[in-house]
Amino acid sequence: MPLLRTHNLTAFYGDFQALYGIDLGFDAGETIAIIGANGAGKSTFLKAIAGLIPSRPDSVLLDGHPIGAKRAADIVKLGIALVPEGRRLFPSLTVEENLLIGGHGRKLAGPWTLDRVYGLFPVLKERRASAAPILSGGQQQMAAIGRALMSNPRVLLCDEISLGLAPIVIADIYAALPQIKAEGTSVVLVEQDIVQAMKASDRVYCFQEGRVSLEGRPGELSRDQIHRAYFG
Ligand code: ATP
Repeated sequence: MPLLRTHNLTAFYGDFQALYGIDLGFDAGETIAIIGANGAGKSTFLKAIAGLIPSRPDSVLLDGHPIGAKRAADIVKLGIALVPEGRRLFPSLTVEENLLIGGHGRKLAGPWTLDRVYGLFPVLKERRASAAPILSGGQQQMAAIGRALMSNPRVLLCDEISLGLAPIVIADIYAALPQIKAEGTSVVLVEQDIVQAMKASDRVYCFQEGRVSLEGRPGELSRDQIHRAYFG
C-alpha cells in the first residue's frame, strides 16, 4: 500500500475548478516531482493534501486512512508538512524561533531536532539569532524547510523551493534532499525548474490544466514528451 495516495482528487476556488480528479501515490522514502506550467494546479494539489483546501475524505489516503476532510493542523500532526511557496517565515521571529514553531505540538517521534536541522543547514546555526527577514533568499528557504522538518514529517511537500534563487544556492538546497530521504521521508517537489526536479526525483508527474498529462520515471521521459505534456 502506498504511504500516500490521492484518489479522484478535485479542488475548487468558488466556482472555478482547479483540479480534475488527480490519482497518484507514493511510498515512504520516495521523491516525486510535479512539474507543469503556471496555473496548472501544482500548488493547489499540495494545499489540498496539506488540508488548506477542503476535499472529500477519501480523496486523500495516508496509510489507507482517509484524511481528505481533516484540518491543516491535524494533518501536520499525522506527518504531512508543507514548505509553502514564498517561504512564509514569521518575520518578527528569529531563525531559531521559526524552527521551534515548526516543532510545536508535534505528535510524531522522529529524527529531526534543532541540532539535526543545524547539521543539515549549518548556516542556520550561524544565523540562529537573526530576524528571519534579514536572511538571504537561500537561507530563508533553508529555514522554511527546517521548520517543516521540525514536525518530523513522513511526507514533506515542497512548493517551488528553487524559485528566485541562484543556481549555486539551489544546488546547496537540493544537496540536503538525500539526507531527508535517508530518514524515510517522502518528498513531493513542485518545481518550475524541470531539470532540477527530474534529477532529484524517482518519479515525475506533469500537470496541465488540473489534470495529470504525463507520468513516468525521469530517465524514461523524452524532452519531446515533456514539452507536449507541459504546453499541450
Ligand atoms: P504557479 O506556478 O503559478 O503557482 P500552479 O501550477 O501552482 O502555478 P495553482 O497556483 O495551483 O497553479 O493554480 C491553479 C489554478 O487555480 C490557476 O488557474 C489559478 O489562477 C487558480 N487559483 C489559485 N489560487 C486561487 C485562489 N485563491 N482563488 C481563485 N483561483 C485560484
